[in-house]
Amino acid sequence: MFSRREMLDLVLVNEQARGIVVRNLVTGEIESHGADAVVLCTGGYANVFFLSTNAMACNVTANYRAYQKGALFANPCFTQIHPTCIPVHGTYQSKLTLMSESLRNDGRVWVPKTAGDKRSPDQIPESDRDYFLERKYPSFGNLVPRDVASRNAKEQCDLGKGVGETGLAVYLDFRDAISRDGKDVIGQKYGNLFQMYEKITADDPYEKPMMIYPAVHYAMGGLWVDYNLMSTVPGLFVLGEANFSDHGANRLGASALMQGLADGYFVIPYTIGGYFAGAQLPKITTTQSEFTSAARKASDRTQRLLSINGKRTVDDFHRELGGILWEYCGMARNDEGLAKARTLIQSLRSEFWKNVKVPGVERDLNQSLERAGRVADFLEFGELMVIDALARRESCGGHFNEGFQTEENEALRDDDNFCHVAAWEYAGEGKDPQFHKEPLVFENVKLTQRSYK
Ligand SMILES: Cc1cc2nc3c(=O)[nH]c(=O)nc-3n(C[C@H](O)[C@H](O)[C@H](O)COP(=O)(O)OP(=O)(O)OC[C@H]3O[C@@H](n4cnc5c(N)ncnc54)[C@H](O)[C@@H]3O)c2cc1C
Repeated sequence: MFSRREMLDLVLVNEQARGIVVRNLVTGEIESHGADAVVLCTGGYANVFFLSTNAMACNVTANYRAYQKGALFANPCFTQIHPTCIPVHGTYQSKLTLMSESLRNDGRVWVPKTAGDKRSPDQIPESDRDYFLERKYPSFGNLVPRDVASRNAKEQCDLGKGVGETGLAVYLDFRDAISRDGKDVIGQKYGNLFQMYEKITADDPYEKPMMIYPAVHYAMGGLWVDYNLMSTVPGLFVLGEANFSDHGANRLGASALMQGLADGYFVIPYTIGGYFAGAQLPKITTTQSEFTSAARKASDRTQRLLSINGKRTVDDFHRELGGILWEYCGMARNDEGLAKARTLIQSLRSEFWKNVKVPGVERDLNQSLERAGRVADFLEFGELMVIDALARRESCGGHFNEGFQTEENEALRDDDNFCHVAAWEYAGEGKDPQFHKEPLVFENVKLTQRSYK
């Protein structure tokens, strides 16, 4: 077990994945590790948006470096934005807090009917409230899926009906549930969440409606894998949120942990054995050129980051990248915005390599250096997300292109032309990635237009 290491490269020998290069996060030493196969379980890339509900250490580096070594990246534009999070409250915030999905079982989502109504919620009578999810989706109400709930909250805020100081929040109100079931019952169900909310916002949800706003939460895209969880690189297996499988464009609640368990307990123990049984695996050592050149490349990149000595911090670049993606490749996208985002990301990336400031040294615990490497990858990966979003000429789940919507403003799919997984192949620095299509074949279910009306 090698803890406190960050994978910086995948090593291929005779086109098979045979090891990794890592940086020891405590000593800064670059190490090489050889193996018969490589299994990546390095999580999702939602932190490309800077603010997300994910842990601060989540990143795309392992996936991105594997992509650069030939593993296809599938559906990178599919990210899930969760409707039930504590709203952003300041520029210097580094993380967002998820409140549980379960709260929408009893909480009612609403905004004032009139834009700009700044009365406190207890002063807004029933007749002046818009329970917009219940009104628009009578059969599902507050329990519509995450993408629909998120987009509708954004729409209300865009109409000027958002609440709180920033206007980027909607109410999640337990008043009716408390009067129906009593405070004790609601406390038994959600007491821990209410306490957490109160600690963060200083408001008591038993007395005053919660304020919530969507936040980036999960990456449905990831490295392409087959049913054995092997990527397009022989011997490179990818499990959990790091792969693209199972969730399509709109992951449903609880399915991620199920996937993690299924991948780890039930699939990989058998499929990796199958690979070993069929593959030729000549002996290797970490002194051979494939390892030494990958280690040198990792070390050179680290040196390069340290030598720039510019004026902007790593977080400053990351925050700007996240802002671009949130604005143009977030809950709702359009062609013009996506094209703009691509240009903005390219110029931000070029500034990063001239003007980033990474303090400290290589051979030490250096979190700025760690983050710099991750943000450098996010700056390339963000462009891949935008390329993928531009190529998908339809709306589906987490990818909502405003140019493709039904008369009722719901996502309009184009199953004739886009019922496929988009898998991208790295073509080299500065070159557009190459598109590959895996058609989706449905044998037992018929594709239909979703409706929660
Ligand atoms: C707040 C929150 C609540 C959630 N609630 C639910 C829920 O109720 N139900 C549900 O099904 N799902 C839920 N999810 C989603 C689910 O938790 C994740 O999808 C799941 O934990 C992903 O597991 P994983 O093992 O694939 O990746 P992770 O748990 O993200 O683990 C990846 C690990 O790899 C490490 N790593 C990353 N890059 C490198 C590298 N280059 N080198 C070395 N190590 C690296 C990371 O530090 C991390 O430790 C929630 C997610 C969040 C953020």
